[in-house]
Amino acid sequence: MQAAEAKQPLFAKKVIPITPYNVKGRYRNIKSLILVVAYAVYFSLPWLTWHGDQRTGQPLLIDLATLRVNFFDLVIFPHDLILLVGMLILGVVLLFMAASLYGRMFCGFFCFQTLWTDAFRFIERMVQGEAQARLRLRKQPWTAEKVAKLGITHALWLLLSFATALTFALYFLEAPVLFAKIFNGTAPAAAYIAVVTLTATTYVAAGLAREQICLVACPYGKFQTAMQDAGTLTVMYDQPRGERTLGRAAPRAELKQAAVRAEKGVGDCIDCNYCVNVCPTGVDIRKGFQIDCIACGLCVDACDTIMDSVNMPRGLIRFDRGQTAAGSRRRFNAKTAGYSAILAGMLGFVIYTASTLTPFDATVQHHAQPLVTRLSNGDLKNRYIVRITNKTTARAQYILRVEGLPAESLSGSTRLAIPAGKTYTQTFNVVLPEKTARATEKFKLILMQQGHPQASRSFSLSYYSMI
Ligand code: SF4
Ligand code: SF4
Repeated sequence: MQAAEAKQPLFAKKVIPITPYNVKGRYRNIKSLILVVAYAVYFSLPWLTWHGDQRTGQPLLIDLATLRVNFFDLVIFPHDLILLVGMLILGVVLLFMAASLYGRMFCGFFCFQTLWTDAFRFIERMVQGEAQARLRLRKQPWTAEKVAKLGITHALWLLLSFATALTFALYFLEAPVLFAKIFNGTAPAAAYIAVVTLTATTYVAAGLAREQICLVACPYGKFQTAMQDAGTLTVMYDQPRGERTLGRAAPRAELKQAAVRAEKGVGDCIDCNYCVNVCPTGVDIRKGFQIDCIACGLCVDACDTIMDSVNMPRGLIRFDRGQTAAGSRRRFNAKTAGYSAILAGMLGFVIYTASTLTPFDATVQHHAQPLVTRLSNGDLKNRYIVRITNKTTARAQYILRVEGLPAESLSGSTRLAIPAGKTYTQTFNVVLPEKTARATEKFKLILMQQGHPQASRSFSLSYYSMI
């Protein structure tokens, strides 16, 4: 006994390669649909052209040279940081709330790691065959067939990794230009470094590490369990139905009928292990909820397939909520109410901030010295400095006018043309007869972008008349 114990390794081997079986069903279909849509959006977005009120160009462009993000008609500059922070907080709250209500469903259906691993597994299956064929191939000696199949698999993985990395780079510069430069060898060194690094990391993460990223590396997977409670929707095995009093049993001749099994106290689980074999993280959900379950629903599809084949009702494994202390399966508790309130607040803030972003930023200051000067005809003059940043991607013209004062009181240049993304400064004067000046404490300056009357700013400015 002691000798046998001495042979036990101190730590169990953690990294065991998983070769999941293929499965058909509604959750597999939903996952495939999300994969196709996500890939279509990701790979096509840099090549599309957005024609908006404020700009024309790539729908999403992160321009590191000018430090701005073009997102459809929005142009976000570093000084719009509050919007970016708002969006970030909104995303975090959304993720927390999703984890509280739906467990790891984000991991199972939407996470980049899951989507790319799924695509890599699809390639592997197309080249090497179903799970059993892949297992056989792995064990067989190095024959020409093995070399060819593994070689093609890895070559296709590298190709997809390269396409992923190249597309990622296209979000940072004008796509057709960067694409041409990368292939004719004139792109910036940073572009080549980014593409090579991302190709390598995609290949390793989705092709080699796969579920190990979810099991070991991903921090979200670890802390999201703290956000779950009895009311969270998770994948569950209906243990009372699956086991009854006598436990699982294969559907032998006398145990084929569901009613007979129930009468004898035999569970509906026929112990086929299909639910375990399809699991991408190697979980046996019949042992209860486990932190490694990414809520992908594939074991639900597997078990439903088996239940159909043995004429028993579906749902032995299903998405469900646990029983809360109050006996309710649906929940709307203080935590959910809190998340909803924060989410609604942040959503309102982001929508308001985004909708009130102007296509230009402007400040107006009174010229400090002198505050006021007298002209030779006795009129008084105040001088102001306007500073305008054109936040669009095209040259724009700006027009100044005064409100509450005669139009001719505004002198100096009242029009200013500014190239895209640039900041210009200009001075202008407001000249008033002394009597009018002494009666004027404040006036309004209106700054408009030509062709966009809705994009205007109004400034309340002081007028000084004491010399
Ligand atoms: S236990 Fe089921 S839902 Fe969880 S990861 Fe495995 S297959 Fe997906
Ligand atoms: S797939 Fe269903 S029947 Fe088969 S082992 Fe899993 S729970 Fe039991």
